[in-house]
Amino acid sequence: MVFSWDHKRSSVPAKTLADLVLACAEWVGSEWSRRLEVSREKELAEQRHRALINGTNDGLFEWNLVNNKVEFSDRWKQIVGYPVEAELSKPDDWFNQVESSDLAQLEADLAMCLAGQTESLRNQHRLTTADSNGETRWALCQAELVTDEDGEPIRLIGSISDTTEFKLAEEKLRHAAETDKLTNLPNRATLHEQLTKAIRRHKLTGGRRRFAMMFLDFDRFKVINDSLGHDAGDQLLIQIADRLREQVRVTDTAARIGGDEFIVLIEEVSDFEKVIQIADRLLEVFAEPFMIDGNEVTSTASIGIIDGSMGYEDADSAIRDADSAMYHAKSLGKARYAIFDQNMQDESLKRLVMERELRQAIGTDQIFMAYQPIVSVDDARVLGFEALVRWRHPELGIVQPDQFIHIAEETGLIVPLGKWILEESCRELVLMRRALPESEFTMNVNLSKRQLVQPDVVDTIRQVVHDAEVDPVWIKFEITESVIMDGRAPVTPTLESLRGLGFQLAMDDFGTGHSSLSCLHQFPIDVLKIDRSFIQSLDQHVEFAAVIQAIVTLAHTLELSVVAEGIETREQLAVLQALECDELQGYLFAKPLPIHEAIDYVSSSKAMLRSA
Ligand code: C2E
Ligand code: CA
Ligand code: CA
Repeated sequence: MVFSWDHKRSSVPAKTLADLVLACAEWVGSEWSRRLEVSREKELAEQRHRALINGTNDGLFEWNLVNNKVEFSDRWKQIVGYPVEAELSKPDDWFNQVESSDLAQLEADLAMCLAGQTESLRNQHRLTTADSNGETRWALCQAELVTDEDGEPIRLIGSISDTTEFKLAEEKLRHAAETDKLTNLPNRATLHEQLTKAIRRHKLTGGRRRFAMMFLDFDRFKVINDSLGHDAGDQLLIQIADRLREQVRVTDTAARIGGDEFIVLIEEVSDFEKVIQIADRLLEVFAEPFMIDGNEVTSTASIGIIDGSMGYEDADSAIRDADSAMYHAKSLGKARYAIFDQNMQDESLKRLVMERELRQAIGTDQIFMAYQPIVSVDDARVLGFEALVRWRHPELGIVQPDQFIHIAEETGLIVPLGKWILEESCRELVLMRRALPESEFTMNVNLSKRQLVQPDVVDTIRQVVHDAEVDPVWIKFEITESVIMDGRAPVTPTLESLRGLGFQLAMDDFGTGHSSLSCLHQFPIDVLKIDRSFIQSLDQHVEFAAVIQAIVTLAHTLELSVVAEGIETREQLAVLQALECDELQGYLFAKPLPIHEAIDYVSSSKAMLRSA
């Protein structure tokens, strides 16, 4: 330090030399002590600064923009993987370690900051550590620009913090949010996002970037899940996912969007023929059986395909159409694909509207029951009724169940609707019995598969019937043959419980499924209803009489009573009487009737019987 004294500026008055020397000595003394104080303060400040630098978990740097030299703190060197004793001073000591994909953004952010366009620098980038490990770390860099009096930047002072752990946790969270946990495939949300992008790209490029999408549903998945258990079902889904992963290209997305439903989004489609080839290959791949817990199971795929160039506006409508096409493929006989077309669009729109309207109609007087008499073959006495649901649509008029029951089944609406049907049938059965005190007739109520597999179905039914003050023996539940015969489906225990409560059970539509007469004895049923297609084919094929005869004989050995349904003509009646069917149902006797007409029908048939 050079000690200079500018006498002109001195505050010490110069009088005599002695005074001067004295004054000088005095001044020197005080100035020294002042300077000592200053330097101690400075040292303290530096100590504090060092403590701060070392104490903070952030690595600090100070970049002298005039000579382009950078000072890095020890912690900075640690984060970037340098030994603390390394002599670093070049900006490249930092930039060389920045991952190339993040470097451009860092440089751009830096340039904006140096140009004064941003007040400070804030950038997150990946570093490859300079040590032999060369691991990847995330660094969050924050820095402030220091300028001179003229506003020229002279320094950039800042820090980097190691945000690797935070980033990894964040990535895990994101992965969890985007992925289906069971199969590790992208989930519905991710697919939705990808699909939205594909739709946008298709639009932006005027249709040049074309995509296609396949909706896959696995035939018999539910049966496998129900019969072999959830774990087996899960394993099957995992294996399905593995096969899918093998088949799709990196540019495509295979996602699980729920249950046994998968979607493959195919991007960069040059030729739709290629999409068909992929569908064919997928069908082949899924025709191969799976090994689950040592069991060989087959679960073929039904595939619905949409062509992205049909001009979709949003992901939901694309998924809906692919879903419709898939249903179409299933209805054509499973293990096949169907490509969505305009007819299906009308169909699916109708379905959508119907579903919404049906949901609103349940519980209002739009839905009501009609009752079709079931009569004795001997004297046409009314033995009971089949309850058949009707929908009085405000615009369409009366909608028949064939048009809406399958929608209710697909959407699950059948569960609340079915409960209402049972409540209403019981309520009106009580009214009918009150109106006709000597009658002993029963009420047949249809139960669909979807209702039967509800875990609480038996309790719900018992409660409804109990609340209506109906004796269970008055109720016969009709369950279609295909539902009962589906050997692996767990409906048999449910049926047994229902029977245990006193309800009677009828196998409906017998002859339409994979009827196996030899299995009939295995099922807990009381009544066999021969499907009306059999009765109607009697007209052209007399040999059907022999088939019906065999059914009746076997049923009687098993102590089942036999109902023939769909009798429209006297000729049919004559044949069925000869074949010793027990009960008959059909338009020949009566169509399904509203409650009051049903009551009248019983009264008038009684009068007829009496007068006969
Ligand atoms: P299903 O259980 O086989 O019901 C018998 C169907 O045959 C009824 O049609 C009935 O009107 C019709 N039918 C009766 N006699 C004759 C005849 O002589 N000739 C002809 N051509 N048809 C006859 P509907 O009421 O249209 O019901 C159709 C199907 O809808 C039913 O078939 C059943 O599967 C379902 N369904 C109807 N009501 C309900 C219900 O309340 N719950 C459930 N789950 N399904 C129902
Ligand atoms: Ca029925
Ligand atoms: Ca039937």
